[in-house]
Amino acid sequence: MAVFDENYARIQEEIAQAALRAGRKPEDVTLLAATKTVPVETINYAVSKGLSCLGENRVQELLDKYDALDREHCDLQFIGRLQTNKVKYLIGKVSCIQSVDSVKLAQEIARLSERQGLVTGVLVQVNIGREEQKGGVDPDALLEFIDQIREFKGIRVDGLMAVPPICDDKTVLSAYFSAMAKYYVDIAAKKSDNVYMRSLSMGMSADFPLAIECGATMVRVGSSLFGARNYA
Ligand SMILES: *Cc1c(COP(=O)(O)O)cnc(C)c1O
Repeated sequence: MAVFDENYARIQEEIAQAALRAGRKPEDVTLLAATKTVPVETINYAVSKGLSCLGENRVQELLDKYDALDREHCDLQFIGRLQTNKVKYLIGKVSCIQSVDSVKLAQEIARLSERQGLVTGVLVQVNIGREEQKGGVDPDALLEFIDQIREFKGIRVDGLMAVPPICDDKTVLSAYFSAMAKYYVDIAAKKSDNVYMRSLSMGMSADFPLAIECGATMVRVGSSLFGARNYA
């Protein structure tokens, strides 16, 4: 727990510094803790220390933790790949699904949300590196995709999310982040109905300061907060 305290303080400071370097306010960047493999006791401790936004990757793991989680004091989101037939387990439990990359998925989130009288926030995941094995909408299809899904009642298009290719070259990485930021700004400028662009979710442990400098409003940090993951 002492390790978490140190990590949390350091990451908040790094977020603040990166925001200031980019001429933005530290509080305009949300830290989402990526909590896959982290035990719920540790997560609740983190929440008691002020961590207020969590993201889980796997439906089953989220469900396993859900009842014990201190949900009153945190916002729970879904950040992993999602099959349409598992949407039913998430509706009403998460405020946002960050990984929407097919019309079918968006439609199912909308349908089940509407049935419960809810509106679920979604981020459109963009395959910014055009990697074959990765989820996300192709950048060339992004505008049309958003125009299709924004029609669905039961969802609200809150922003964009990306996981760029693994890469040590800061110049290459910042080109991906900046391309995302440009889409984000351009889409916001269209002011389309049901499209809000309040979250640009990009940047993880290895690269979140750079993502913030390029325009991220939300960073998803796991191992730097909780230590290396143990998948056992
Ligand atoms: C695990 C995960 C993260 C956090 O990764 P770290 O490198 O541990 O910070 C962020 N986003 C997604 C979608 C993840 O699955």
